[in-house]
Amino acid sequence: MKVLVIGGAGYIGSVVVRELQRRGHEPVVYDNLRTGHREAVPPEVPLVLGDLADRDQLATAFQRYAPEAVMHFAAFIEAGESMRFPGRFFANNVASVITLLNTMLDHDVTRFVFSSSAAVYGDPDSLPVTETAFLRSTNPYGETKAMVETVLRWLGELSGLRYVSLRYFNAAGAADGVGEDHSPETHLIPIVLQSALGLREAVTIYGDDYPTRDGTCIRDYVHVSDLAQAHALALDYLTAQERSLVCNLGSEQGASVREVVEAARRITGIDFPVLMGPRREGDPASIIASSQRAMEALGWRREHSSLEEIIASAWEWHRTHPRGYASS
Ligand code: UDP
Repeated sequence: MKVLVIGGAGYIGSVVVRELQRRGHEPVVYDNLRTGHREAVPPEVPLVLGDLADRDQLATAFQRYAPEAVMHFAAFIEAGESMRFPGRFFANNVASVITLLNTMLDHDVTRFVFSSSAAVYGDPDSLPVTETAFLRSTNPYGETKAMVETVLRWLGELSGLRYVSLRYFNAAGAADGVGEDHSPETHLIPIVLQSALGLREAVTIYGDDYPTRDGTCIRDYVHVSDLAQAHALALDYLTAQERSLVCNLGSEQGASVREVVEAARRITGIDFPVLMGPRREGDPASIIASSQRAMEALGWRREHSSLEEIIASAWEWHRTHPRGYASS
């Protein structure tokens, strides 16, 4: 199937592009390369340099490549930044996605796979969190994902759109020579590994006064290659079913910030320095997924999402790409 991958030069998108190729699909990447990397796109995959907010450019890509499905990875992703610049997040993560969805429907493309987030839940009342939990994001980032899911639901009911919305928990790890290269980097595992490499002076833990087992935040880390499998299965679902689906993608295991730091010290064999800092605004204390629905509806199986494998694969990437793609 021809799949237009919006944001396919980014971290998760570029791993998904490779998985689509392996399964005989034909991905086309649409990316403005503001945060994505040209080197992350396999040379044989067409790369359209385009902005999601540009309706004409987008329509041209639909005419030229006639995709049968669309995947969207092109969101701003930093919850902390969304607390400082909420308007930017609503513009890019909501308004531009609506432009995309309307363009799809104008071209009779009705299959859509959306990168949603655990951030839609905020601080849930009970863990592991299921898809039926109340949505009450603690930051604008999560709110943008919930807003798009609302738009999807209505377009699904009224305009013939069919979608799978995948609520990722904490994507991490490296696969197929693709790893995390964000600028600036804000995610815990890359920051920890950059500290192990001596590229940062220390890791700062954002708060140790949360109501968790060691006072630091608990997150559910899921390997990027397991996420990629789920996207391919979501395409199969949209081919076989007349329905839409919203599901969590997590490992069903929680690791605290301190546990991530300790695992990284063990795996790298490096005793890098750690500092204690204040809480980061907008951070929920604990979030762990139930992924039962993804397993039942998509047939998803996790193969690489132990914390050990996530950190070991990420370490291999950071060790060999200390300056990210600029190293190669
Ligand atoms: N975190 C931290 N120090 C850092 C970066 C992150 O203590 O330098 C914490 C952060 O507060 C959160 C967890 O690590 O509790 C995971 O943060 P990340 O930004 O990787 O993902 P998020 O959960 O925000 O999507």
